[in-house]
Amino acid sequence: DVRVRFAPSPTGFLHLGGLRTALYNYIFAKKYGGAFVLRLEDTDQSRLVPGAAEVIEEMLEWAGIPPDESPGRGGPLGPYLQSKRLELYRQAASQMVDGGHAYHCFCSPQRLELLKKEALRTGQTPRYDNRCRHLRGEQVQEKLAQAAPHVIRFRLEEGVESFQDLIFGWNRHEVAQVEGDPVVIKADGFPTYHLANIVDDHHMRISHVLRGSEWLISTSKHLLMYRALGWQPPAFGHLPLLTNKDGSKLSKRQGDIFIQKFQRDGVLPEALLDITTNCGSGFSSNRVGRTIDELISEFNPSKITTHSALLDLEKLPEFNKIHLQHHIEDEQQCNLLIKDLQEQIRQAYISEIQDEDVLHDDYIRRVLHLRKGHISSLRELVSPVYSYLWVRPSFSSQQVAALSTEARQIATMALKLAEERGEAAAVDQISKDLKTLAKQTKSTKYRDVMRLLRLTLSGLQQGPSVVEMMVALGPAETIHRLQKLLL
Ligand code: GLU
Repeated sequence: DVRVRFAPSPTGFLHLGGLRTALYNYIFAKKYGGAFVLRLEDTDQSRLVPGAAEVIEEMLEWAGIPPDESPGRGGPLGPYLQSKRLELYRQAASQMVDGGHAYHCFCSPQRLELLKKEALRTGQTPRYDNRCRHLRGEQVQEKLAQAAPHVIRFRLEEGVESFQDLIFGWNRHEVAQVEGDPVVIKADGFPTYHLANIVDDHHMRISHVLRGSEWLISTSKHLLMYRALGWQPPAFGHLPLLTNKDGSKLSKRQGDIFIQKFQRDGVLPEALLDITTNCGSGFSSNRVGRTIDELISEFNPSKITTHSALLDLEKLPEFNKIHLQHHIEDEQQCNLLIKDLQEQIRQAYISEIQDEDVLHDDYIRRVLHLRKGHISSLRELVSPVYSYLWVRPSFSSQQVAALSTEARQIATMALKLAEERGEAAAVDQISKDLKTLAKQTKSTKYRDVMRLLRLTLSGLQQGPSVVEMMVALGPAETIHRLQKLLL
Protein backbone atom coordinates (compact mmCIF):
# COMPACT_ATOMS: atom_id res chain seq x y z
CA ASP A 1 0.00 0.00 0.00
CA VAL A 2 1.20 3.46 -0.84
CA ARG A 3 1.38 5.63 2.25
CA VAL A 4 3.16 8.97 2.22
CA ARG A 5 3.44 11.71 4.75
CA PHE A 6 4.10 15.39 5.15
CA ALA A 7 5.96 15.89 8.41
CA PRO A 8 6.49 19.57 9.17
CA SER A 9 7.74 20.89 12.49
CA PRO A 10 5.31 23.40 13.93
CA THR A 11 8.14 25.84 14.48
CA GLY A 12 6.59 28.23 12.00
CA PHE A 13 3.62 28.65 9.72
CA LEU A 14 3.15 26.88 6.43
CA HIS A 15 5.02 28.53 3.56
CA LEU A 16 5.30 27.84 -0.14
CA GLY A 17 8.20 25.40 0.19
CA GLY A 18 6.22 23.32 2.68
CA LEU A 19 3.06 23.51 0.62
CA ARG A 20 4.95 22.20 -2.37
CA THR A 21 6.33 19.22 -0.43
CA ALA A 22 2.84 18.49 0.88
CA LEU A 23 1.41 18.80 -2.61
CA TYR A 24 3.82 16.28 -4.15
CA ASN A 25 2.95 13.86 -1.36
CA TYR A 26 -0.76 14.43 -1.86
CA ILE A 27 -0.53 13.96 -5.61
CA PHE A 28 1.59 10.85 -5.21
CA ALA A 29 -0.93 9.36 -2.77
CA LYS A 30 -3.90 10.12 -5.01
CA LYS A 31 -2.17 8.94 -8.16
CA TYR A 32 -1.46 5.54 -6.64
CA GLY A 33 -4.60 5.17 -4.56
CA GLY A 34 -2.74 5.57 -1.29
CA ALA A 35 -3.04 7.58 1.90
CA PHE A 36 -1.64 11.02 2.63
CA VAL A 37 -0.67 11.45 6.27
CA LEU A 38 0.03 14.69 8.10
CA ARG A 39 2.35 14.22 11.06
CA LEU A 40 3.55 17.09 13.20
CA GLU A 41 7.11 16.80 14.40
CA ASP A 42 6.96 18.82 17.58
CA THR A 43 9.82 17.31 19.54
CA ASP A 44 11.84 20.49 19.69
CA GLN A 45 9.71 21.97 22.41
CA SER A 46 11.81 25.12 22.68
CA ARG A 47 11.07 26.17 19.11
CA LEU A 48 7.32 25.58 18.97
CA VAL A 49 5.24 28.46 17.65
CA PRO A 50 1.83 28.59 19.33
CA GLY A 51 -0.98 27.94 16.87
CA ALA A 52 1.34 26.79 14.06
CA ALA A 53 0.21 23.15 14.25
CA GLU A 54 -3.46 24.06 13.77
CA VAL A 55 -2.72 26.56 11.04
CA ILE A 56 -0.63 24.09 9.04
CA GLU A 57 -3.52 21.65 8.92
CA GLU A 58 -6.02 24.41 8.21
CA MET A 59 -3.92 25.64 5.30
CA LEU A 60 -3.71 22.17 3.75
CA GLU A 61 -7.50 21.96 3.92
CA TRP A 62 -7.83 25.42 2.43
CA ALA A 63 -5.43 24.54 -0.37
CA GLY A 64 -7.59 21.60 -1.30
CA ILE A 65 -5.03 18.94 -0.40
CA PRO A 66 -6.48 17.62 2.87
CA PRO A 67 -4.67 14.81 4.66
CA ASP A 68 -6.41 11.45 5.06
CA GLU A 69 -4.93 11.02 8.52
CA SER A 70 -3.78 13.89 10.73
CA PRO A 71 -3.87 15.33 14.25
CA GLY A 72 -7.22 16.97 13.43
CA ARG A 73 -8.83 14.11 11.55
CA GLY A 74 -7.31 11.26 13.50
CA GLY A 75 -6.67 7.90 11.86
CA PRO A 76 -5.82 4.27 12.57
CA LEU A 77 -2.09 4.77 13.19
CA GLY A 78 -2.13 7.89 15.35
CA PRO A 79 -1.59 9.90 17.37
CA TYR A 80 -0.12 12.12 14.66
CA LEU A 81 1.65 14.48 17.02
CA GLN A 82 5.11 13.35 18.06
CA SER A 83 4.86 14.76 21.58
CA LYS A 84 2.10 12.19 22.17
CA ARG A 85 4.26 9.27 21.06
CA LEU A 86 7.20 9.57 23.43
CA GLU A 87 6.83 6.00 24.69
CA LEU A 88 7.46 4.62 21.19
CA TYR A 89 10.73 6.53 20.89
CA ARG A 90 11.89 5.37 24.32
CA GLN A 91 11.15 1.79 23.36
CA ALA A 92 13.08 2.10 20.12
CA ALA A 93 16.02 3.72 21.92
CA SER A 94 16.17 0.92 24.52
CA GLN A 95 15.99 -1.64 21.77
CA MET A 96 19.00 0.06 20.20
CA VAL A 97 20.84 0.14 23.52
CA ASP A 98 20.06 -3.52 24.21
CA GLY A 99 21.32 -4.51 20.78
CA GLY A 100 24.55 -2.55 21.28
CA HIS A 101 23.56 0.03 18.65
CA ALA A 102 23.20 2.91 21.04
CA TYR A 103 24.71 3.98 24.33
CA HIS A 104 24.28 6.38 27.20
CA CYS A 105 26.45 9.45 27.01
CA PHE A 106 27.20 11.48 30.12
CA CYS A 107 29.45 14.10 28.56
CA SER A 108 28.70 17.49 30.03
CA PRO A 109 27.67 20.44 27.87
CA GLN A 110 30.94 22.07 28.95
CA ARG A 111 32.99 19.17 27.56
CA LEU A 112 31.10 19.26 24.27
CA GLU A 113 31.61 22.98 24.07
CA LEU A 114 35.36 22.52 24.58
CA LEU A 115 35.52 19.86 21.86
CA LYS A 116 33.77 22.23 19.52
CA LYS A 117 36.08 25.15 20.32
CA GLU A 118 39.12 22.99 19.86
CA ALA A 119 37.90 21.75 16.47
CA LEU A 120 37.14 25.26 15.27
CA ARG A 121 40.54 26.46 16.48
CA THR A 122 42.30 23.81 14.40
CA GLY A 123 40.06 24.38 11.40
CA GLN A 124 38.10 21.13 11.68
CA THR A 125 34.38 20.47 11.58
CA PRO A 126 33.17 19.97 15.14
CA ARG A 127 32.05 16.46 15.92
CA TYR A 128 31.52 14.37 19.00
CA ASP A 129 34.54 12.13 19.69
CA ASN A 130 32.37 9.14 20.70
CA ARG A 131 34.06 8.94 24.09
CA CYS A 132 31.12 7.37 25.97
CA ARG A 133 31.07 4.46 23.52
CA HIS A 134 33.82 3.05 25.66
CA LEU A 135 32.23 3.24 29.09
CA ARG A 136 32.00 -0.12 30.82
CA GLY A 137 28.62 -1.58 31.84
CA GLU A 138 29.08 -1.02 35.54
CA GLN A 139 30.20 2.61 35.00
CA VAL A 140 27.00 3.26 33.10
CA GLN A 141 24.84 1.55 35.74
CA GLU A 142 26.47 3.55 38.48
CA LYS A 143 25.88 6.88 36.76
CA LEU A 144 22.31 5.97 35.93
CA ALA A 145 21.73 4.99 39.56
CA GLN A 146 22.96 8.46 40.55
CA ALA A 147 20.52 9.94 38.05
CA ALA A 148 23.38 11.63 36.22
CA PRO A 149 22.16 13.76 33.30
CA HIS A 150 22.66 11.96 30.03
CA VAL A 151 21.62 11.54 26.43
CA ILE A 152 21.42 8.42 24.29
CA ARG A 153 23.59 8.30 21.19
CA PHE A 154 23.34 6.06 18.17
CA ARG A 155 26.53 4.19 17.32
CA LEU A 156 27.29 4.89 13.66
CA GLU A 157 28.57 1.80 11.87
CA GLU A 158 31.79 2.28 9.93
CA GLY A 159 31.61 1.78 6.22
CA VAL A 160 29.99 3.06 3.08
CA GLU A 161 26.25 3.32 3.02
CA SER A 162 24.69 3.50 -0.38
CA PHE A 163 21.10 3.78 -1.45
CA GLN A 164 19.05 4.56 -4.50
CA ASP A 165 17.10 7.78 -4.19
CA LEU A 166 13.99 7.90 -6.39
CA ILE A 167 15.03 11.29 -7.70
CA PHE A 168 18.73 11.77 -7.04
CA GLY A 169 19.76 8.23 -7.94
CA TRP A 170 22.64 6.46 -6.24
CA ASN A 171 24.05 8.04 -3.12
CA ARG A 172 27.08 6.96 -1.16
CA HIS A 173 27.92 8.26 2.27
CA GLU A 174 30.47 7.35 4.86
CA VAL A 175 28.60 8.84 7.75
CA ALA A 176 30.92 7.66 10.52
CA GLN A 177 33.80 9.38 8.72
CA VAL A 178 32.07 12.71 8.83
CA GLU A 179 29.96 12.79 11.96
CA GLY A 180 30.22 11.85 15.58
CA ASP A 181 27.56 9.52 16.97
CA PRO A 182 24.25 11.41 16.85
CA VAL A 183 21.99 11.94 19.84
CA VAL A 184 18.70 10.06 19.58
CA ILE A 185 17.24 10.83 23.02
CA LYS A 186 18.00 14.25 24.47
CA ALA A 187 18.66 15.08 28.13
CA ASP A 188 15.00 16.09 28.54
CA GLY A 189 13.87 12.61 27.47
CA PHE A 190 12.56 13.84 24.12
CA PRO A 191 13.78 12.16 20.94
CA THR A 192 15.73 14.05 18.28
CA TYR A 193 14.30 14.49 14.82
CA HIS A 194 16.26 11.53 13.40
CA LEU A 195 14.93 8.95 15.82
CA ALA A 196 11.34 10.17 16.01
CA ASN A 197 11.19 10.47 12.25
CA ILE A 198 12.17 6.88 11.50
CA VAL A 199 10.19 5.39 14.38
CA ASP A 200 7.07 7.10 13.11
CA ASP A 201 7.66 6.31 9.46
CA HIS A 202 7.96 2.70 10.52
CA HIS A 203 4.92 2.55 12.81
CA MET A 204 2.81 4.63 10.44
CA ARG A 205 3.75 2.19 7.66
CA ILE A 206 5.05 4.89 5.35
CA SER A 207 5.98 3.37 2.01
CA HIS A 208 7.61 6.40 0.35
CA VAL A 209 9.34 9.32 2.01
CA LEU A 210 9.11 12.32 -0.29
CA ARG A 211 10.76 15.29 1.32
CA GLY A 212 12.97 18.29 0.64
CA SER A 213 16.46 17.66 -0.71
CA GLU A 214 17.98 19.21 2.42
CA TRP A 215 17.34 15.84 4.07
CA LEU A 216 19.23 13.82 1.48
CA ILE A 217 22.42 13.79 3.55
CA SER A 218 20.58 12.50 6.63
CA THR A 219 19.20 9.52 4.81
CA SER A 220 22.17 7.19 5.26
CA LYS A 221 22.02 7.83 8.98
CA HIS A 222 18.33 6.96 8.90
CA LEU A 223 19.06 3.77 6.99
CA LEU A 224 21.63 2.72 9.57
CA MET A 225 19.01 3.21 12.26
CA TYR A 226 16.44 1.14 10.38
CA ARG A 227 18.97 -1.64 10.11
CA ALA A 228 19.86 -1.42 13.81
CA LEU A 229 16.19 -1.84 14.67
CA GLY A 230 15.71 -4.65 12.17
CA TRP A 231 13.10 -2.69 10.25
CA GLN A 232 12.47 -2.51 6.52
CA PRO A 233 13.05 1.14 5.41
CA PRO A 234 10.67 3.00 3.10
CA ALA A 235 11.74 4.22 -0.33
CA PHE A 236 13.21 7.72 -0.37
CA GLY A 237 12.75 10.48 -2.92
CA HIS A 238 14.20 13.90 -2.31
CA LEU A 239 12.50 16.82 -3.96
CA PRO A 240 14.59 19.59 -5.48
CA LEU A 241 14.60 22.91 -3.71
CA LEU A 242 12.13 25.66 -4.45
CA THR A 243 14.00 28.93 -4.92
CA ASN A 244 13.35 32.48 -6.04
CA LYS A 245 13.47 33.22 -9.76
CA ASP A 246 17.14 34.24 -9.47
CA GLY A 247 18.04 31.00 -7.72
CA SER A 248 18.32 32.55 -4.27
CA LYS A 249 16.77 30.91 -1.23
CA LEU A 250 13.09 31.61 -0.56
CA SER A 251 13.19 33.75 2.49
CA LYS A 252 10.64 33.19 5.19
CA ARG A 253 11.67 36.47 6.66
CA GLN A 254 10.26 38.40 3.74
CA GLY A 255 6.97 37.14 5.11
CA ASP A 256 5.43 37.01 1.66
CA ILE A 257 5.64 33.27 1.14
CA PHE A 258 3.35 32.25 3.95
CA ILE A 259 0.17 30.56 2.79
CA GLN A 260 -2.06 32.63 5.05
CA LYS A 261 -0.72 35.76 3.42
CA PHE A 262 -1.75 34.51 -0.04
CA GLN A 263 -5.13 33.53 1.34
CA ARG A 264 -5.64 37.00 2.82
CA ASP A 265 -4.60 38.59 -0.47
CA GLY A 266 -7.35 36.80 -2.33
CA VAL A 267 -5.15 34.24 -4.09
CA LEU A 268 -7.07 31.13 -5.04
CA PRO A 269 -5.64 27.83 -3.78
CA GLU A 270 -5.64 26.37 -7.29
CA ALA A 271 -3.49 29.23 -8.52
CA LEU A 272 -1.01 28.68 -5.73
CA LEU A 273 -0.76 24.94 -6.39
CA ASP A 274 -0.49 25.57 -10.11
CA ILE A 275 2.36 28.06 -9.79
CA THR A 276 4.38 25.97 -7.33
CA THR A 277 4.29 22.97 -9.66
CA ASN A 278 4.55 24.93 -12.88
CA CYS A 279 8.13 25.94 -12.13
CA GLY A 280 9.08 22.52 -10.95
CA SER A 281 9.38 19.19 -12.52
CA GLY A 282 7.32 16.04 -12.53
CA PHE A 283 4.54 16.90 -14.94
CA SER A 284 3.94 16.06 -18.53
CA SER A 285 2.98 19.65 -19.31
CA ASN A 286 3.47 23.02 -17.72
CA ARG A 287 0.43 24.73 -19.10
CA VAL A 288 -1.20 27.27 -16.82
CA GLY A 289 -4.64 26.71 -15.39
CA ARG A 290 -4.35 23.13 -14.17
CA THR A 291 -6.76 21.94 -11.52
CA ILE A 292 -5.71 19.52 -8.81
CA ASP A 293 -7.25 16.61 -10.73
CA GLU A 294 -5.28 17.57 -13.81
CA LEU A 295 -2.13 17.83 -11.73
CA ILE A 296 -2.74 14.31 -10.47
CA SER A 297 -3.30 12.89 -13.91
CA GLU A 298 -0.35 14.75 -15.45
CA PHE A 299 2.02 13.80 -12.63
CA ASN A 300 4.89 11.55 -13.61
CA PRO A 301 7.49 10.93 -10.89
CA SER A 302 10.14 9.93 -13.41
CA LYS A 303 10.00 13.49 -14.76
CA ILE A 304 11.13 15.02 -11.48
CA THR A 305 14.62 16.38 -12.01
CA THR A 306 17.27 17.38 -9.51
CA HIS A 307 17.40 21.03 -10.60
CA SER A 308 15.98 23.59 -8.21
CA ALA A 309 12.55 24.82 -9.15
CA LEU A 310 12.62 28.53 -9.84
CA LEU A 311 9.50 30.20 -8.57
CA ASP A 312 8.29 33.28 -10.41
CA LEU A 313 5.81 34.95 -8.09
CA GLU A 314 5.38 37.86 -10.48
CA LYS A 315 3.33 35.49 -12.59
CA LEU A 316 0.92 34.77 -9.76
CA PRO A 317 -1.70 37.36 -10.83
CA GLU A 318 -1.78 35.74 -14.26
CA PHE A 319 -2.36 32.31 -12.72
CA ASN A 320 -4.98 33.70 -10.40
CA LYS A 321 -6.80 35.39 -13.28
CA ILE A 322 -7.19 32.09 -15.07
CA HIS A 323 -8.36 30.18 -12.02
CA LEU A 324 -10.68 33.00 -11.02
CA GLN A 325 -12.28 32.73 -14.43
CA HIS A 326 -12.80 28.99 -13.87
CA HIS A 327 -14.45 29.73 -10.54
CA ILE A 328 -16.74 32.33 -12.08
CA GLU A 329 -17.80 29.89 -14.77
CA ASP A 330 -18.65 27.21 -12.24
CA GLU A 331 -22.08 27.99 -10.81
CA GLN A 332 -21.43 26.66 -7.33
CA GLN A 333 -18.05 28.31 -6.96
CA CYS A 334 -19.42 31.51 -8.42
CA ASN A 335 -22.01 31.63 -5.64
CA LEU A 336 -19.22 31.53 -3.10
CA LEU A 337 -17.41 34.34 -4.88
CA ILE A 338 -20.61 36.38 -4.81
CA LYS A 339 -20.87 35.97 -1.02
CA ASP A 340 -17.23 36.88 -0.61
CA LEU A 341 -17.50 39.94 -2.81
CA GLN A 342 -20.68 41.14 -1.10
CA GLU A 343 -18.80 41.08 2.17
CA GLN A 344 -15.88 42.98 0.69
CA ILE A 345 -18.17 45.59 -0.86
CA ARG A 346 -19.95 46.10 2.44
CA GLN A 347 -16.68 46.53 4.24
CA ALA A 348 -15.25 48.93 1.72
CA TYR A 349 -18.28 51.03 0.85
CA ILE A 350 -21.03 50.53 3.41
CA SER A 351 -21.56 54.20 4.20
CA GLU A 352 -21.44 55.29 0.56
CA ILE A 353 -23.83 52.80 -1.02
CA GLN A 354 -27.03 54.57 -2.05
CA ASP A 355 -28.65 51.84 -4.04
CA GLU A 356 -28.89 48.49 -2.24
CA ASP A 357 -29.43 46.78 -5.61
CA VAL A 358 -25.67 46.68 -6.10
CA LEU A 359 -25.54 44.03 -3.41
CA HIS A 360 -27.96 41.71 -5.17
CA ASP A 361 -26.64 38.36 -6.30
CA ASP A 362 -27.76 38.87 -9.90
CA TYR A 363 -26.01 42.20 -10.29
CA ILE A 364 -22.80 40.87 -8.79
CA ARG A 365 -22.94 37.72 -10.89
CA ARG A 366 -23.31 39.84 -14.00
CA VAL A 367 -20.33 41.99 -13.02
CA LEU A 368 -18.23 38.88 -12.38
CA HIS A 369 -19.06 37.44 -15.76
CA LEU A 370 -18.28 40.72 -17.48
CA ARG A 371 -14.94 41.14 -15.77
CA LYS A 372 -13.71 37.53 -15.82
CA GLY A 373 -10.49 37.18 -17.75
CA HIS A 374 -9.67 40.80 -16.89
CA ILE A 375 -9.39 40.78 -13.13
CA SER A 376 -6.79 38.78 -11.23
CA SER A 377 -8.52 38.88 -7.89
CA LEU A 378 -11.87 39.81 -6.35
CA ARG A 379 -9.99 42.46 -4.41
CA GLU A 380 -9.58 44.44 -7.59
CA LEU A 381 -13.31 44.86 -7.85
CA VAL A 382 -13.42 46.87 -4.65
CA SER A 383 -10.46 49.07 -5.59
CA PRO A 384 -11.08 52.70 -6.64
CA VAL A 385 -11.19 52.01 -10.40
CA TYR A 386 -14.18 49.78 -9.88
CA SER A 387 -15.91 51.83 -7.18
CA TYR A 388 -18.34 53.09 -9.83
CA LEU A 389 -19.92 49.65 -9.77
CA TRP A 390 -21.04 50.04 -6.17
CA VAL A 391 -21.20 53.74 -5.44
CA ARG A 392 -22.74 56.64 -7.38
CA PRO A 393 -20.03 59.12 -8.24
CA SER A 394 -19.77 62.74 -7.34
CA PHE A 395 -18.20 65.42 -9.49
CA SER A 396 -18.40 69.20 -9.75
CA SER A 397 -19.80 71.48 -12.43
CA GLN A 398 -16.31 72.96 -12.78
CA GLN A 399 -14.99 69.56 -13.76
CA VAL A 400 -17.73 69.27 -16.35
CA ALA A 401 -17.14 72.76 -17.70
CA ALA A 402 -13.43 72.08 -18.05
CA LEU A 403 -14.17 69.21 -20.43
CA SER A 404 -16.95 70.58 -22.59
CA THR A 405 -19.30 73.50 -23.05
CA GLU A 406 -21.93 71.28 -24.56
CA ALA A 407 -22.31 68.80 -21.74
CA ARG A 408 -26.12 68.94 -21.80
CA GLN A 409 -26.29 68.10 -25.49
CA ILE A 410 -23.86 65.23 -25.07
CA ALA A 411 -25.85 63.93 -22.12
CA THR A 412 -29.07 64.08 -24.12
CA MET A 413 -27.55 62.10 -26.98
CA ALA A 414 -26.04 59.53 -24.59
CA LEU A 415 -29.33 59.15 -22.78
CA LYS A 416 -31.11 58.47 -26.01
CA LEU A 417 -28.53 55.90 -26.90
CA ALA A 418 -28.84 54.11 -23.55
CA GLU A 419 -32.63 54.10 -23.80
CA GLU A 420 -32.69 52.78 -27.33
CA ARG A 421 -30.09 50.08 -26.90
CA GLY A 422 -31.55 48.71 -23.67
CA GLU A 423 -30.34 45.66 -21.73
CA ALA A 424 -29.15 43.65 -24.66
CA ALA A 425 -26.62 46.13 -26.00
CA ALA A 426 -23.30 44.57 -26.90
CA VAL A 427 -19.90 46.13 -26.43
CA ASP A 428 -19.11 46.75 -30.12
CA GLN A 429 -22.54 48.18 -30.73
CA ILE A 430 -22.14 50.71 -27.95
CA SER A 431 -18.63 51.65 -29.07
CA LYS A 432 -19.88 52.33 -32.55
CA ASP A 433 -22.74 54.40 -31.16
CA LEU A 434 -20.35 56.45 -29.05
CA LYS A 435 -18.17 57.21 -32.06
CA THR A 436 -21.20 58.41 -34.00
CA LEU A 437 -22.28 60.47 -31.03
CA ALA A 438 -18.89 62.16 -30.77
CA LYS A 439 -19.06 63.16 -34.45
CA GLN A 440 -22.23 65.11 -33.80
CA THR A 441 -20.75 67.46 -31.22
CA LYS A 442 -19.84 70.99 -32.26
CA SER A 443 -16.70 71.75 -30.34
CA THR A 444 -15.89 68.76 -28.14
CA LYS A 445 -13.32 66.23 -29.34
CA TYR A 446 -13.97 62.49 -29.10
CA ARG A 447 -11.44 62.22 -26.30
CA ASP A 448 -13.19 64.83 -24.20
CA VAL A 449 -16.61 63.33 -24.86
CA MET A 450 -15.29 60.10 -23.39
CA ARG A 451 -13.75 61.92 -20.46
CA LEU A 452 -17.00 63.68 -19.77
CA LEU A 453 -18.98 60.46 -19.88
CA ARG A 454 -16.42 58.69 -17.74
CA LEU A 455 -16.60 61.46 -15.16
CA THR A 456 -20.38 61.29 -15.15
CA LEU A 457 -20.56 57.53 -14.83
CA SER A 458 -17.68 57.01 -12.41
CA GLY A 459 -16.36 60.29 -11.07
CA LEU A 460 -12.97 59.18 -12.42
CA GLN A 461 -10.68 61.26 -14.64
CA GLN A 462 -9.22 58.14 -16.16
CA GLY A 463 -9.69 54.42 -15.85
CA PRO A 464 -12.25 51.98 -17.19
CA SER A 465 -13.60 52.50 -20.68
CA VAL A 466 -16.96 54.18 -21.06
CA VAL A 467 -18.36 51.19 -22.94
CA GLU A 468 -17.30 48.82 -20.20
CA MET A 469 -19.01 51.00 -17.63
CA MET A 470 -22.22 51.36 -19.61
CA VAL A 471 -22.46 47.61 -20.06
CA ALA A 472 -21.68 46.85 -16.43
CA LEU A 473 -24.06 49.43 -15.01
CA GLY A 474 -26.87 48.56 -17.38
CA PRO A 475 -29.20 51.07 -19.04
CA ALA A 476 -31.26 52.09 -15.99
CA GLU A 477 -28.29 53.06 -13.85
CA THR A 478 -26.48 54.62 -16.82
CA ILE A 479 -29.51 56.80 -17.45
CA HIS A 480 -29.78 57.72 -13.80
CA ARG A 481 -26.18 58.91 -13.77
CA LEU A 482 -26.31 60.74 -17.12
CA GLN A 483 -29.31 62.70 -15.96
CA LYS A 484 -27.09 64.52 -13.49
CA LEU A 485 -25.62 66.43 -16.43
CA LEU A 486 -29.02 67.84 -17.22
CA LEU A 487 -29.56 69.39 -13.81
N1 GLU B 1 10.28 17.68 10.47
C1 GLU B 1 11.08 17.69 9.31
C2 GLU B 1 10.89 19.04 8.63
O1 GLU B 1 10.47 19.94 9.26
C3 GLU B 1 10.64 16.54 8.42
C4 GLU B 1 11.64 16.08 7.44
C5 GLU B 1 11.17 14.78 6.80
O2 GLU B 1 10.19 14.86 6.04
O3 GLU B 1 11.72 13.75 7.09
O4 GLU B 1 11.18 19.27 7.50
